Amino acid sequence: MKIVDVKARIFAVPPRRMETEVPWVFGRLAQVFVEVTTDDGLVGIGEAYAYGVPKASAAVVNETLRPLLVGEDARRIAQLTQRMFQKTHLFGRYGVTTFAISGVEMALWDLAGKRAGQPLYQLLGGAAGTRVPAYASLVRYPEEHEQIRLDAEKAMAEGFTMLKVHQITVPSVAMAREVIGEDVPLTVDINCEWSPFEAARMAEAMHEYELFWLEEPVWPPEDYLGLAQVQASTGVPLSSGENACTAHQFKAMMDAGAVTYLQPSVTKVGGIAEWLNVARLVQLNGFELAPHSPYFGPGLAATLHLIAHTGQGRWIEKIYFDLEVELFKEPLQLAGGVYTVPDGPGLGVELNWEALAAFEVADG
Ligand SMILES: [Mg+2]
Repeated sequence: MKIVDVKARIFAVPPRRMETEVPWVFGRLAQVFVEVTTDDGLVGIGEAYAYGVPKASAAVVNETLRPLLVGEDARRIAQLTQRMFQKTHLFGRYGVTTFAISGVEMALWDLAGKRAGQPLYQLLGGAAGTRVPAYASLVRYPEEHEQIRLDAEKAMAEGFTMLKVHQITVPSVAMAREVIGEDVPLTVDINCEWSPFEAARMAEAMHEYELFWLEEPVWPPEDYLGLAQVQASTGVPLSSGENACTAHQFKAMMDAGAVTYLQPSVTKVGGIAEWLNVARLVQLNGFELAPHSPYFGPGLAATLHLIAHTGQGRWIEKIYFDLEVELFKEPLQLAGGVYTVPDGPGLGVELNWEALAAFEVADG
């Protein structure tokens, strides 16, 4: 069970073309997948957050974490994770370092599941159900671009029961609400654009569109008191957490009463166990969980297992576009807006390395 190799690889798979030509606002979509190999021939896979920083995430895995792990027993996930955190804290506790640790830790869990012959959710203690509703998470389009309407209509026709837009104008939010009707929950993600004052003003202006949550309205994301003030003064439920790493930052967010919905991201927060730490804190403190998962690879599969296991978080986030190639040998099943959690060992998915080969980027 000794670890013989740890390797991060970068793949830049372009999105599938859309029906209408719109400026692409999601940036270059390079993903980092991690493989941990043990001396019994098993390989676990994980995903480290990489959008915009693939070479940095991969370098931390390949140059900094690999030497800490090779030769160690892969079954000691908690101890190895603690070692990774402690040995890297000088480089910055949060951000790229934690993204890299998240990918490696996820691969260790995948290995554990493969060794046990059990899906991750079973390994963790079972699941109440293995079907997880998804919400369609639209990318940000310019102002009131027609694509918002087209995407929202398509998502509703496909059976999604909730919609998220990344629009920052009132008329564009109104467009989305008009398409989906009064009864479908609508959330708006600002990606930290506003001051607390602006956020409060905009939350008031969007009040009539009944936001289920308003996501990360305030810059900087760690201005927890600013978030708390916006939520208290407007009565609009806020969400945040995709930019938080480790349960410590989530605890601080809850202590400040910053938001209602906490959004751990399994490729960023520190991995599977840290995501679970956050989920338990959220439950103990009476908050709500709304996992962040705009992923296509192991990060998406892991989030499905975690939601199924904890029963927290009513929906999984499905970023609403597809890639040019399917990443898994057997695609995740999504029908009528509901995912079926894969029941193979570990994450229950296998990357299609042959299809991915054409998109591999040298890690420099
Ligand atoms: Mg977000």
